[in-house]
Amino acid sequence: MSRAFNFCAGPATLPEAVLKQAQDEMLDWRGSGMSVMEMSHRSEAFIEIAETAEQDLRELAGISDDYAVLFMQGGASSQFSAIPLNLLGDRTGADYINTGIWSKKAIAEAARYADVNVAASSSDQGFSTVPDPSTWNTRADAAYLHYTPNETIGGVEYDFIPECGDVPLVADLSSTILSRPLDVSRFGLIYAGAQKNIGPSGLVVIIVRKDLLGKARPETPTMLNYQVIADNGSMYNTPATYSWYLAGLVFKWLKEQGGVAAMGELNERKARKLYDFIDANEFYANPVDPRYRSWMNVPFTLADEALNADFLKGADERGLLNLKGHRSVGGMRASLYNAMPEAGVDALIDYMASFARERG
Ligand SMILES: *Cc1c(COP(=O)(O)O)cnc(C)c1O
Repeated sequence: MSRAFNFCAGPATLPEAVLKQAQDEMLDWRGSGMSVMEMSHRSEAFIEIAETAEQDLRELAGISDDYAVLFMQGGASSQFSAIPLNLLGDRTGADYINTGIWSKKAIAEAARYADVNVAASSSDQGFSTVPDPSTWNTRADAAYLHYTPNETIGGVEYDFIPECGDVPLVADLSSTILSRPLDVSRFGLIYAGAQKNIGPSGLVVIIVRKDLLGKARPETPTMLNYQVIADNGSMYNTPATYSWYLAGLVFKWLKEQGGVAAMGELNERKARKLYDFIDANEFYANPVDPRYRSWMNVPFTLADEALNADFLKGADERGLLNLKGHRSVGGMRASLYNAMPEAGVDALIDYMASFARERG
């Protein structure tokens, strides 16, 4: 059996070396006589797995001791409500930038708890760009400013970190975390669902500046209270142990690859190859403002939509899987996360070229 190139937006492809290691360790983790899945989360073995994963993530992302790292559950979407509940404190207002579907979901959930000000939106541009920061209508007394550095569905990625003075910056980094170097110290809180660049779905990683802890509203569910989760080493209840372990294997793998600097170079090269090909070939198009094209998620359309099904069928036959675009935007989307090798992008471009030649 050979592995396909899986371009799924999430759950997404994982490094083959990681899956093999998990396979090797499945029945007996390092002489413990059991699978990680069967271990007590209070056992010495699991504590070591958990602490090593956190340590490796701290090294990879350059996270200082000023920040707590939390391994929570419920995916990134659970954080859409956890963030206002924990960070509003004695304030009522929160600012959000709307650049697409994930921003909108975060805004809708926050509006249940906060006076939400959408400080800028690219909705008039069909969410194909990032609004010029000089036009942002942010408030100096907002509890935080939330934005979505990479819109996974629209394929729009910021190439800058917003400036917001003393207002804590909150980022949904689900689909771009660890894909390139990032100055964590600029953020109040970073969160990321694991199933794009980290590991299995369900797990969500939160990196939060410690001075922002301890302000949760009284009605905050205990399981969403960052202070409680931090005080308990992310083990207030039974954590997602196996996902945490797998995330740890991915972090080790990333370190072996040369860390986020090396990933950034590789990811830029992969994305550039694909965009260059799309721009040079009349049969394909990408609608995003070139400056803000995502390195992780590349949406594209065919000149003749009637050929979409044939394109996908031919791709499947070549082991190029899950290229169908999100149901809300149609067309195609190739997700090129860390674990997608450059050979996968080359194979995709070969196929796209031959399809355009034969059918375009
Ligand atoms: C996938 C994704 C989410 C949702 O993640 P879940 O784990 O399914 O809740 C949120 N934000 C962004 C940017 C995403 O890519």
